[in-house]
Amino acid sequence: MDRSLSLITPTGHLTLGNLLGALRGMVAAQDAGDCFFGISDLHAMTTGHEPASLRAAVAEVSTLFLAAGLDPARATLFRQSQVPAHRELTYLLECTAYTGELNRMIQFKEKGRGVASTRASLYTYPVLMAADILLYRPSSVPVGDDQRQHVELTRDLAIRFNSTYGPVFTVPEVTLPRAGARVMDLQSPGSKMSKSAVADAGVIRLLDPPDVVRRKVARAVTDSDTGPDAVRAAGDKPGVTNLLDILTACGGSADGLTTYGALKSAVTEAVVAVLEPLQKAYTELAADPAYVASVFAAGSARCRDVTAPVLAAADAAVGL
Ligand code: AMP
Repeated sequence: MDRSLSLITPTGHLTLGNLLGALRGMVAAQDAGDCFFGISDLHAMTTGHEPASLRAAVAEVSTLFLAAGLDPARATLFRQSQVPAHRELTYLLECTAYTGELNRMIQFKEKGRGVASTRASLYTYPVLMAADILLYRPSSVPVGDDQRQHVELTRDLAIRFNSTYGPVFTVPEVTLPRAGARVMDLQSPGSKMSKSAVADAGVIRLLDPPDVVRRKVARAVTDSDTGPDAVRAAGDKPGVTNLLDILTACGGSADGLTTYGALKSAVTEAVVAVLEPLQKAYTELAADPAYVASVFAAGSARCRDVTAPVLAAADAAVGL
């Protein structure tokens, strides 16, 4: 059975974008293959971080994985830091990568620009990401544009390692992600709704109560068009298009809507209907943190078993 792998980094509270663009697809994929779904807590440390906040974010994201419908009976749920092979293979791949390659990584250039003291891990994290992938030998990695360059690097490292030391890694194909909604920020619909956004007003969090969802949607940027066709997706109306996409992705319909007020009410209702059962499940699961932790401990133990032979083969190949 083909393996698939998705990781979510616990920086900030997860958003409607994470649900519609990632978690939903992960839930749907559970029966289609041998799925590994992880919380990439090591990736949450590439910029300044607080230990207590990281711990809280890991607990929240773990609980949200289960509340969103990821099922430990059908998928392996794990924490990256509990599978030491991720860190160990990273070093071998750092001995395979060239600084010239890492210098070309766009995300490093963007996130590191103008920052006085950038952590070395921000520079090397694409290598950790390559280790995350190569340890599981998936045949393909579905990624969006922002991560494409990192998966190309992963392929380059795998090919170079294999040709230098012998065939250890499967070279993964880069494929397009499962079609999932791309949710834009309600205040700046030109950018993706992001869990690490500085301004919260345009970001719907999965744990936002209904009145907060209502307020954020009510303030969403729309358009000045008041004509009969106002509620219609169009390239020059990114805010309206985004609300319509959210409405459809949440199971609502724009049929018969003629005003932005009506559109916003419909969006609020549809989003709240999607979030309510998830929040109810979250509250129940959050009351039993030991259960949630045990699910991830068991999944991480399986990952240690799965990754051990790959790391051992890589060690032996380089002469360790
Ligand atoms: P991130 O929150 O950027 O670490 O992304 C975690 C996962 O959620 C990735 O699969 C992203 O593609 C997905 N994701 C994040 N934000 C959005 C968004 N606004 N719309 C759709 N998918 C998203």
